[in-house]
Amino acid sequence: MLNKYRRFRGGYTFRKPEGVFKKNIETAPLPKKVIIPLKLRFGSKITLLVKKGHRVRAGQVIARDDETISTPAVASVNGTVEDILQINYFYGKVDAVVIRSDGTSDYMKLEGSEENYTRLSHDKISELIYTSGAASLGKSGIPTIFKSSPARPKSINSIIITTFGTGPFALDDELIFKGRESDFYKGLDILKRILPNAKTTIAMDKKNKTFMKGMIDAIRRGSTTTTVPDWIFVQPLEKKYPQESEDMLVRAILKKKIPIGGLGVDIGVLILDIHDVLRVYEAVALGKPFIERTVAFAGSAARENKYINMRIGVSLEEILKGNVKDNTEPRAIFGNALTGLLEKDVSMPVGRSIGHITILEEARARQFLAFMHPGLCQDSYSNAFLSSCVASSKIKYDTNMRGELRPCIQCGYCEEVCPVSIIPHLLSKQIKHDLCDGAEKLGIFECIDCGLCSYVCPCKIPLADDIASGKRKLIEEGCPVWKVKVKESEEAVKGYRGRMPL
Ligand code: SF4
Ligand code: SF4
Repeated sequence: MLNKYRRFRGGYTFRKPEGVFKKNIETAPLPKKVIIPLKLRFGSKITLLVKKGHRVRAGQVIARDDETISTPAVASVNGTVEDILQINYFYGKVDAVVIRSDGTSDYMKLEGSEENYTRLSHDKISELIYTSGAASLGKSGIPTIFKSSPARPKSINSIIITTFGTGPFALDDELIFKGRESDFYKGLDILKRILPNAKTTIAMDKKNKTFMKGMIDAIRRGSTTTTVPDWIFVQPLEKKYPQESEDMLVRAILKKKIPIGGLGVDIGVLILDIHDVLRVYEAVALGKPFIERTVAFAGSAARENKYINMRIGVSLEEILKGNVKDNTEPRAIFGNALTGLLEKDVSMPVGRSIGHITILEEARARQFLAFMHPGLCQDSYSNAFLSSCVASSKIKYDTNMRGELRPCIQCGYCEEVCPVSIIPHLLSKQIKHDLCDGAEKLGIFECIDCGLCSYVCPCKIPLADDIASGKRKLIEEGCPVWKVKVKESEEAVKGYRGRMPL
């Protein structure tokens, strides 16, 4: 079923970046060594099942704990456990297993998988998703019969599948979808079997009509009827940043709001992407463990913007080799350029939750009177540069600030773009003057950390950083708003809806 087009207030459509976009998926060479972190963002510490010197096979579970919110860690190469150590990974120190590859590329097939998955019991499907490592997909994990996710399978009433990105270097998921339409439908069908109460909505770029038609045709063919099954909806949306964020998807599609500090699953919503659905299909129907993933590699320092299929746990350094422009100092970010996590240590592994690596050119040279440059390759919300009048000009996004920090000129741009209708410049002032109570009243916890206010500010004020530090301070002080209940949050949506021109 095709839903009515929806859009949200604020946001920003990034101009097309400079660079070559490759139209196929490359496979990275088999790494000599991988590092498998044993904990994900949402998970607890899990019990290690291997020791230094043990031989392991790709797909073998090397750590698991079925009684906590966690997902099993899976070896991604055949080889020997070389070390067990602690690494600084994203949000702190985590245990990790180093595996030295033996150079063979085969893997251990999951026991009990079946091409005709309709013959499998729902518990078996759950088990296959869990032991393959695919239960770690999405921000909160896919709920199974195990305690792998903060939610239970029956509590999920909605699955949202994203098919497009809106950041400056978002690559098109259409490439991943092409040729795998039937696998994708089967992935949706498998998810429906373990999450029986869920309706599935596929969020699509309303302007990409061919992709949308291809999707609807694939669903019709998959369901072997002439109509789209009544549990699948196709939702056209505007390709505007940050539409693909969990919060904005839930607001635009379901007219609900994720509770402050919570996850989609707290209100019964599971958010996945096309890659995740294909992983589910591969685990259950083909018995393929989650040992590799396709990562979008793009940015101003990249030789080509492309998808790379890589083994999980390969070091960032290996991926950068040969893929970065010569004589360029790159800045690697796990995620998109505005909200991703800066990774300075290139020996860090590309873990299973990484779907995007942004690689920007470090531009340390000071630009004298930056605002006086014609700016054929510069992006600006205020249309100050020539690029805004030349439709064909492509933007060079790098790390240059293009100007110095200046006092706020009350232009209101930050307020215009804020997708959750708060007032970033006022919040920043409150926080700077230590007026945390005022910041709380101005809705600081509504901020979804999209970083857009900082990006558009002509005075280079780090608004998003100021707001993030204000939130941290309030949480440390035990602010009661942080402990808001889902019910209260749903009440807040009513007020929000009035402001959102859907
Ligand atoms: S205040 Fe928060 S939500 Fe609004 S634009 Fe800034 S970072 Fe995004
Ligand atoms: S965008 Fe920058 S200069 Fe404009 S109102 Fe916001 S903080 Fe002030």
